[in-house]
Formats: sequence, structure tokens, C-alpha cells
Amino acid sequence: MFKDIDFIKDKIEDLRRTIEEHNIHYYCYDSPIISDLEYDRLMSELSNLESMYPNLITEYSPTQRVGSSPLMSFNKVKHSVPMLSLSNAFTSEDVNLFNKKVISSLCKKIDIKDDIEYFCDLKLDGLAVNLRYENGVLVHGSTRGDGYIGEDVTSNVRAIKSIPLRLIGDVPKILDVRGEVLMYNKDFDDLNNKNIKKGERVFVNPRNAAAGSLRNLDSKISSMRKLRFFAYGWGNINDNNEINEISKFEHKTHESVLNWFVLLGLPVNKKYHKVVSGISGILSYYDSIVNNRNSLPYGIDGVVYKVNSLDKQKILGYSSRAPRFALAHKFLAEEAITQIVGIDVQVGRTGAITPVARLKPVFVGGVTVSNATLHNENEIKRKDIRIGDFVIIRRAGDVIPEVVSTVIDLRPNNTIQFIMADRCPVCNSSIKRIDNEIVYRCTGGLYCPAQLKQSLKHALSRKALNIVGFGEKLIEKLVDNGYLRSLVDIFRLTISDLMNIDLVAEKSATNLLKSINSARKPSLSSFLFAMGIRHVGETTAADIAKKFKTIDNIIIASFDELLSVNDIGYRTANSIKLFFSEKHNLDVIYSLRSIDVYPISEEYEKVSEKLKGKSFAVTGKFQDYSREEIIKYIESNGGKVTSNISKKNDYLITGENSGKKLNFAENNGIQIIDQQEFIKLVDL
Ligand SMILES: [Zn+2]
Repeated sequence: MFKDIDFIKDKIEDLRRTIEEHNIHYYCYDSPIISDLEYDRLMSELSNLESMYPNLITEYSPTQRVGSSPLMSFNKVKHSVPMLSLSNAFTSEDVNLFNKKVISSLCKKIDIKDDIEYFCDLKLDGLAVNLRYENGVLVHGSTRGDGYIGEDVTSNVRAIKSIPLRLIGDVPKILDVRGEVLMYNKDFDDLNNKNIKKGERVFVNPRNAAAGSLRNLDSKISSMRKLRFFAYGWGNINDNNEINEISKFEHKTHESVLNWFVLLGLPVNKKYHKVVSGISGILSYYDSIVNNRNSLPYGIDGVVYKVNSLDKQKILGYSSRAPRFALAHKFLAEEAITQIVGIDVQVGRTGAITPVARLKPVFVGGVTVSNATLHNENEIKRKDIRIGDFVIIRRAGDVIPEVVSTVIDLRPNNTIQFIMADRCPVCNSSIKRIDNEIVYRCTGGLYCPAQLKQSLKHALSRKALNIVGFGEKLIEKLVDNGYLRSLVDIFRLTISDLMNIDLVAEKSATNLLKSINSARKPSLSSFLFAMGIRHVGETTAADIAKKFKTIDNIIIASFDELLSVNDIGYRTANSIKLFFSEKHNLDVIYSLRSIDVYPISEEYEKVSEKLKGKSFAVTGKFQDYSREEIIKYIESNGGKVTSNISKKNDYLITGENSGKKLNFAENNGIQIIDQQEFIKLVDL
């Protein structure tokens, strides 16, 4: 009989250890080694045995994670060793200063010859908790609270499966493990999607969801099971009443303690730990994490550096508020809450009407933001954003700030709903949705000054015609004062035009004209990109240029020919055909050509080397060929074409109405040939 009980005891214990091991694989390291089905089978075998032998049930059994009834409130707990927060740094100067302070403090006590060794870790964006293990069994869990007194969340932390209910191996009598409770992004998305379907509370971000779950009085709520935990430090370690004597366990570094935690079965985020040397090591760790931040499965709000040597940590000690041996290097907050004071609409280059929230200025992502995009009317409706609402603003990197969501809890009584105008606020043309698009567009085209300004801005930009010196303000003034009605007018600007606009002094007017003139022969791809055809970005423009070589070829290209270009689909081909079927667009291209502004053709595949080493200039109009075709023949036969004439040219090819270039050629002994002679030369 006793033998039987021992056998059952062993069997139960065996099952518990196996399940605990699988919990670590599954919940700490995301690498399960058995199927969910197999795991469930182990769990039900254990709970069957336990229900047959209820006196063998222990507090730490995996079946005992979830408590019975919700709590009325959380008890307060005093931390035996305070849970201090870390000092923060936001810039590399701050980090430098920290390193210098560490060195100078240590130098007072010991000899420092080498760079300080630092232990680097992610700063997980969750909640700090303290877990107390007595003789290896979890007895207590508490939140940080104010650092001295926290809340007793024992029943909740027990429900978090990555937190072991007992430890493995040679455990101290008392061990306070410190770490972060957090929620993975995918679990957060799942949770919110389910809550939306059930009409329940939607959380703003994973941190918010983790906090809401951990501080819920009912440990049975499903979101508790989505929480995770990583250990990163310790409070009290007590064996034989020697408080905090970690050295008894022969650990000399922070890293070594965390490695020991792994052996005890605690989840540790080892994958991102790194021991580095000195300030350069610290900063390169920071850079590598910043670059990989978005590929992490959870949110972080910075990284943490700790002096690795425990002896040195002891020498550095604590200030009243934070340890002197550690620093949190935080990212600038990318989200902030502020109030919408109004909603304007902006008109874009293609007439798209974008609602923009005017905000009470708020500091976010390192700058003060007073406008944020609302994308389109559907988004405003979907997120139920109203004028007067408090909203979460996000500004990540150089991305345009956007309104993420409304904070419903803070909604005032007198909010106003946004109504989309039916006329363009700039040109008063009607606003329409075309082809079932989400976006409304002003139908004014380039008649609409807002669209004209944006399209000029685009055409002059670096990847397009690259005319430097034209700021947004100058373009606006030139349009508003009637100097610019199309792209062609840019090349007709005079010094006095520019100086009439009081923004420009004579010297910069001269420079502006210089940069305008240097843009008269753009590459075909940048010219095409500058046209601002919808769906034709930089890469598509380059692909088209490569295939068709000249602007004339592109204008006459058939729908099927366009489709044969890499990555061009129906939508883009359609948009290109549409663009070149509009007379006013062709007018721009031909007018530009008439004032000697045209794209240089792409290089042709060599037909021959007949003209190798010969340099040509071309002037006037030709009967049978376009200027581009002449250039094509020269280049495909190995010759060179220059847009201006100089003494270096061998030939000038002249058509009708040849002007200054002809005079220059006559005076400088450059051989002058007409179309017929050119044809003979290349044997067309
Ligand atoms: Zn308009």
C-alpha cells in the first residue's frame, strides 16, 4: 500500500517536472518541443491523478495556477529591498556622462586601468514585479508600486505560465526575483480583436494591456494567460540569514547571476544580453537594438546598462532614488496624448483631400507636434475621432505624425463630429470620390493652386528635376503672385521676377537661375518622375525609361507595351495612358521642348562603333526625324551628344531654324552637317 502511494507520488512529481519544463520551452523561449495536444494530455493526466489523491495536491502544482474567486482589493506589500527605478538617459551625451561618473567614482576606491565592462539588456515595456521564492517555491508576487510598497498580485502572477511555481536545483532559502511582466504584440492583437468582437474594452497598447491584466482582481480572466515574464535582477537573496550575500553563490558578475537564474528554471531574455566594454561598446549595442527594434516580438522603451562586476556595483552603491551602477538609455517617446482643437483639410499633389488634426502642441518623438494626419474620412469614422477629443499621437522616426486613437475615457461632453466639405477649400472645385477610392479628391486639377504648388514642389525635388533652392514658401509665393502657372514657367523665370518676390535677394536669384538652367537636360527617368504621374514612382520611372529610351516613345507606347515593363500592372499602365492622353500634359512637355528643356534619352544598345570618339551637337528642327531620334542614332553608333556646343565638338547637325549654335560652329571651325549628310555618315 505504501509502496503504491510512493509510486503515485513519484508519478505525479514526474508529470509536474515535465510540464514545468515544457512551460519554459513554450512560454519563455517560444520553442515548444511537444504539441499542444500532448501538453494538454499531460495536464489532464496530472489533474486526474490529483483528483484521485487530493492529499497529494501542492500549491506549486501546475494545476493550481488559477485561484478560485476574484479578490475584493489588492493588499499592500512592503518590499524587503526597495525596487528602485533607474536613472534615465536620452542622448549619447547623457550616456557618456554616466560612464565618466562611474569611472571617477570607482577611481576614488580602486585602480581603474581598462574600460568598464557593462552588461546590456533590453528595457522591456511592461510592469516590474517582485517574485519571492522560499526554498524554491513561489510564495509571493508584487508590483513595484512606489518602489517601497507595492500591491500583492500573487494570485495573478501564479496564472502567468512563464513564471515557474517552483525552481529547479540548489535553491537559496529566500530569493526575490525581479523582472518584467509584459504582453507580446501578437497576443495583444489577438486580445484586442477578441475584445472588439465581444464589444469589450480595447487596450491602447501592449503595455496598457499588460498593466490592465496584471492589476485585474480576477485572476481567471483570459488575458492573464497571455502575459509573459522575464527576470533581469534580484532583491533579497538570503541563505542562512546572510541578506543579499550573492557572493556566497560565487557569482562575480551580473551576467553570471542571470545565467544561474536560467539553471534555476527562470525565464531570462538571454538572446539580447550582451557584455560590452566601455562607452563605444555601450553605444554600438544601443545602435544595434534601435535598428532591430521593430523586429522584436514585444515593445521596448530603451536599453539598460549595468556595471557587470558585482564588486564594482557594491562600491558604486545607490543614491536615494536609483542605483549608481545602472542606466536606462530610453528611446524618445513616440506616443503622447493631446487634444484636437480642430480638423482642417489639406489638398495634395493629386488632389487628394487629407483631413489633418490641429492639436494642442505636444512633445513627442523629440519634437513639438501641432498637426497630425487623420488619413481620410473613413479612418475618422472608424476611430470615432471628434473635434475636442483627447487622442493618442504617434510620431515614429521621420514619419508624418498621425492620430492613433481616441481616449474615450477622457472624452468631454461638447465634442463635434467632423463633416467632409463638398468643395475644395482652396479652389472651390467640387470634391469627389473617383472609382470607389477611399480618398476624396479636388476635381480642379492644375487649376487648383494647392495641387499646382504640390506638383511643382514634386517636380523640382531632388529625385525629380533636382532644382535646388526652391523652398516651399518661394513656390507658394510665385504661384500666388501669378508667376508660375505650370512647370514651363519655371524655366521662363527672370532675375527680376524672382526679385519682385521680396523673399529673394539678387545673389540668390542668380543662383536660382543657375540651378534652373542646370536642370534643362534631366535624365529621362527623373523627367518622367517629375511629371508626377499617379503610381509612377522613382523606380517605375527608371524601368520605363530603360525600356522606351525616349519621351516620344513613352507618349506613343501602347497599353500592352507599358504592361510589358517590370512591375507595371494594369493600374499603373492605365494611369500613364491617361496622363499622356490629356492635352494639357502634352502641352507642358512640348512647351518645355520649345524652350530647349527636354530629357536626355537613355543610352541605346550599341549598333556599331562607327561614330566612336566623335562628339556631336544638335540644333534646329528636322524634317524626318525628331531630335531624340537623331540623338538615338548617334549614341547607338558609339558617338557622343552634348547639349551645348563647344570647341570640343566635331560636328554640329543643323535642321531648320538653327540659331546661336550655328554661329558658334561657323566661327570655331566645327564641321556643320545637315540631316542628309548625317544619314550618309551613319549609313542609315
Ligand atoms: Zn482645389
